[in-house]
Amino acid sequence: MEITEIQCQSILTRAGGYLHEVCSHSLNPYIGCGFGRSACGVGCYVRHNAWLTKGRDWGGFVEVKMNAPEVYLKTWEGEKRWANRRQQPFAVFFSSSTEPWQAVEKRYRLTRRLLEAMRACPPEELILQTHTTAMLDDIHLVAELSQHCRLRVHVSIEGDTERLPGLPPPPATVAGRVELLRQLSSAGIVAVACLSPLYPMKNPASFFEQIAQAGASAVVIDHFIEGDGTREGSRTWKTDLPRSMETVDPESTRLAYRDRIAAIAQKYLPVGISAAGFAGHYSKY
Ligand code: SF4
Repeated sequence: MEITEIQCQSILTRAGGYLHEVCSHSLNPYIGCGFGRSACGVGCYVRHNAWLTKGRDWGGFVEVKMNAPEVYLKTWEGEKRWANRRQQPFAVFFSSSTEPWQAVEKRYRLTRRLLEAMRACPPEELILQTHTTAMLDDIHLVAELSQHCRLRVHVSIEGDTERLPGLPPPPATVAGRVELLRQLSSAGIVAVACLSPLYPMKNPASFFEQIAQAGASAVVIDHFIEGDGTREGSRTWKTDLPRSMETVDPESTRLAYRDRIAAIAQKYLPVGISAAGFAGHYSKY
């Protein structure tokens, strides 16, 4: 793993593309991701971003934006005004193209320092997105911050399948991530399970019942088709993910599979679909 310390000019990126519907800004403390060679890295849409990878292997590099908290504090007020002028809340998605609690976070504590900066100068809305139970290191800070802004944590759990054939292991076990939902909810934090991208499921009814009992407020179901930044899922079709999914259930690579799973989820929890779900729009159940 190549780790580089860098200075950034800006840390709040005005949202475009599918994120436009979700937030006013994205915030990425790192460039690259230490989980890029785990299961989620196979279907990760960021790996296709040539501007960001600059030809490097996804999962082989991380750049650490050392001055990110200071830059946040310098720019948050102007960016909040920018969002509000557009009749939008100042809503930050943390993070859209990296994992805030990846392994290097233990060394740099950049995500923690950014959350501390936000405690002093909070956004109006904050979405924390994670794949890993390591965010429990900061659960008290997140709980405190949730008193200062509308905050929700998106926990990525692709489904109830621990490991797909031919793919590497995930950053955290399914049971560990369900437990993360439970602990967040017990701490009074809004926690949402994100099945993104949706994997073939063994027993969806039992899984949704389990996450509802863990205290999840909602579930987002996001298929790689319509979910990887292309209408047909063409980026993901170039990876090993669809082939692996088809060996478990050939139906799972069709968009109709998402709708079938969403209909089951609706018996247990409010359900959001793809970008609308990430934006916090859920159907009643
Ligand atoms: S943790 Fe997130 S950003 Fe990192 S490889 Fe997995 S999906 Fe991509």
